[in-house]
Amino acid sequence: MLKNARRTHTCGELRPDHAGQTVVVQGWAQNARDMGGVVFVNLRDRNGLVQVVADERSPEAVRQAAAGVHLEYVVEVEGVVQLRASPNPKLPTGMIEIVASSVKILSRTPPLPFSIEGHISANEDLRLQYRYLDLRRPEVQKNLVARHRAAIAVRKYMDAEGFVEVETPVLTKATPEGARDYLVPSRVHAGQWYALPQSPQLFKQILMVAGMDRYFQIVKCFRDEDLRADRQPEFTQIDIEMSFATREMVMELATNVVKTLWNEIGGHTVPEIPVISYTEAITRFGVDAPDTRFGMEHTVVTELLRNTEFSVIRGLLDAGGIAKAFVVKGGGASVSRKQLDAWTGFVKSYKLGGLMYGKVGAPWTGPLSKLSEAELSAIAAATGAVEGDLVLLGAGNPNAVNAGLGKLRPAVAKELGVVPPGYSFVWVVDFPSFEKDEESGRWMAVHHPFTSPRPEAIPLLGTGREGEMFADAYDIVCNGYEIGGGSIRIHDPDVQAKVFSTIGLTDEEAKMKFGFLLDALRHGAPPHGGLAFGFDRIIMLLCGTDNIRDVIAFPKTTSAQDLMSGAPSPVDAGQLKELYVRNTNEG
Ligand code: ASP
Repeated sequence: MLKNARRTHTCGELRPDHAGQTVVVQGWAQNARDMGGVVFVNLRDRNGLVQVVADERSPEAVRQAAAGVHLEYVVEVEGVVQLRASPNPKLPTGMIEIVASSVKILSRTPPLPFSIEGHISANEDLRLQYRYLDLRRPEVQKNLVARHRAAIAVRKYMDAEGFVEVETPVLTKATPEGARDYLVPSRVHAGQWYALPQSPQLFKQILMVAGMDRYFQIVKCFRDEDLRADRQPEFTQIDIEMSFATREMVMELATNVVKTLWNEIGGHTVPEIPVISYTEAITRFGVDAPDTRFGMEHTVVTELLRNTEFSVIRGLLDAGGIAKAFVVKGGGASVSRKQLDAWTGFVKSYKLGGLMYGKVGAPWTGPLSKLSEAELSAIAAATGAVEGDLVLLGAGNPNAVNAGLGKLRPAVAKELGVVPPGYSFVWVVDFPSFEKDEESGRWMAVHHPFTSPRPEAIPLLGTGREGEMFADAYDIVCNGYEIGGGSIRIHDPDVQAKVFSTIGLTDEEAKMKFGFLLDALRHGAPPHGGLAFGFDRIIMLLCGTDNIRDVIAFPKTTSAQDLMSGAPSPVDAGQLKELYVRNTNEG
C-alpha cells in the first residue's frame, strides 16, 4: 500500500505489539483534556481512535503544543507507543497510548456546530449543512465503506458471470419510469431539452440489440418525485440486462447478487427466496411489497359477511366492496382505545372509510360485536383468532381495503414490537400489465411500457380486455422494501407499438418519444430481459438503518435540497438567456 509521507500508522491500528516503537499518526482531535501539566488528546482517523499523552516524558514545548489542541483540530503526533497504566477495554487501541515527542497542529477550526462524538442530537438539517463534520462520525464512514465493498462485490460477481459494465448517457431523452423528469435546457438547440435518465432502460435494451449480450452498470438515476425516507431524487441502481434470457434466469442471477451482497457485506446467509404472485401478495398482505418477517396476514372475509345484517358492512359489500381482516395476537390486553383511534386515522389516509375491530371473547367486544354469533365464529375460524385476540377489519373499495390494511399491518407490528430482527425476502411475479389511471380513465403500464406481457396475454392487446393481462415482470422484496424489479422485455416491434397505443400514445407520439427504440427493435432484437436493484436501499438494509441519507455521502433533504452546497439555487439572468429559458416566477 502507498505509504504516507509522514504517517507511519493509522490511529486505529496500534496494539501492544507496537510498544516501544516510534510512530507518527495524523488525525482529528476527538477530545483534548489538559489535566494541569498532563495533556490527553484522542486522535481519530477513518481507522479508529488512539490516545496521545503529553506529560513529563515529553519536552515542555510539546506539552505546550498539546495544550493548544482543541476539538477537531488536525494534528500530527510523533511519539513512542507505550502500554497504558489504565487500559480502556472498550477501545481496540485501548491497551496503549502514544507518548508525544512532537505535536504539530496542521489545521484549526472554530467551535463546532455540533459534537461529533457519541450520540448526535443535532437535527438532521444542521448535520446535512455541515455534512463534512457529520461524515467524520465513524458510523457514517462505516456505511460508506460498506457501500464501497458492496459495489466491489457486485462488480466482481457480475464480471464472473460474463456481464460487461457499460456507461450510458446522463444527458438523454426522457425514459418513462412513472416519475417526473429532471430537464436540462440545450444552449445549442434553442427550446430543446435533455432529460436526466429515470433509468438507463432504453439504452440497456439497445445494448442487447447491439449484441452486448450481458450488461450491467452501477448507475445514477434521477426522478423528480415526492420524497420519502427511502427515496432520493438522485439514486443509484445496479442495472442489469441479458439477452436470450428467461424470467427464471434473471431471477436466479438477481437472487445470486442478493446472496453475494448479504453474505459478503452483511455476513448473512440468504435462504431460498419464496416466489408469490402479485395477486397472492395483495390477498395475503394487501401490498405488493410485503414485509414477510412476521405473520398478521390478511384473510378475505367478504363471503362470510355477504348476508350480514350489520348494515354498514352489508352496504359496502353490496356496492361491490370487499372485506378483509387480520388478527393481533393477545391484542385484547395490550391495545388501547387511543391506539385503535390512531390506527383508524391511519387507514383513512389510504381512503379506507374506517377500521372495525373486535376483541375476541365470550362475548366479543368492540364494534364487530354487532355481527351475528355465526358470523363471528366464522371470522374467528377463518382468521385463526382465539380468545383475547384483536381482530381488525376493513370493508369497502378493494384498493382502499388492501392499501389501508396493507400499510396498517407493518405499522401495527412495528408499534407492538413484534417484528423480529433479520431479513426476509420474497419474489413477487405476474403483475398486471396495465392499470387504469383513476383520473384520466386511461391505461397505464404498471412496470414500464417496455415490459412484455406474459405470452398467453399478448393476444388480449387491443381487445379492451387489457385489464386481464399479466406481465412478465418480477420484483424482489426485503423486509417490506422493494429492492429490485424488472421484466422480460418486448422485442417484437409490433407488440411494442400495440402497447404504446394501449397506453394512449398516438403513432406520432410513440415515434417522437421512442422512435429510436422501435427502430432498434426492427433491426434484429434478441429476446431479452433484466432488472434493476435500488443500490441505496440495499445498503440501507445492510447497514441496519431506515434512513437512506445515512448511506449516501451527500444526500438531499426530503424537499430535494442539498443543504451543504445550497442546491438548487438561482442562476444569473445571462445564463438563462443563453439557454432560452425565462423565469416565470419572478415578481
Ligand atoms: N428500468 C427499471 C426501473 O428502473 C428496471 C428494469 O425494468 O430493469 O425500475
